[in-house]
Amino acid sequence: MSSSRDPDCIFCKIISREVPAAIIHEDDRTIAFMDAFPSSKGHALVVPKDHHPNLLTLPTDLLQAAAALAQRIARAQKQALQPDGIIVSQFNGEAAGQTVFHYHVHVVPRWKGQDSAVHGRKQEDLQVLQEVASQIAAAL
Ligand code: AMP
Ligand code: ZN
Repeated sequence: MSSSRDPDCIFCKIISREVPAAIIHEDDRTIAFMDAFPSSKGHALVVPKDHHPNLLTLPTDLLQAAAALAQRIARAQKQALQPDGIIVSQFNGEAAGQTVFHYHVHVVPRWKGQDSAVHGRKQEDLQVLQEVASQIAAAL
């Protein structure tokens, strides 16, 4: 389980179940759940359970674990949702667009003709997100 945590961090609160999220998958070191403001159907976040602000502070073994889960999620999205492409992105520091300072990777299915913004504007209903999470989880 997680050994470092920030009590004010929204992702730490999701990991400890203080805040609800549409969880796709978790293991002892990583978790994947749906982005609450999806920029596209199936927009997932892959997060190491330990609280580390960004790539610069993340231990390499957790970087590898997160990358491996991001690949699994991308493959499952492809199978479950049949997107034309998948964006994998990750921001470090406010100036780079980071808004939650707990390392995470965006895994975002894309369909032809969509714009390329990574941050969505509208919060999606948790039930809708849970439905998509189940579809992706079934393809893992
Ligand atoms: P970043 O800009 O890379 O730090 O992205 C943080 C992401 O976390 C954004 O895409 C937000 O929509 C997402 N987010 C923020 N709060 C929550 C939450 N409670 N549950 C799920 N996703 C969230
Ligand atoms: Zn955290």
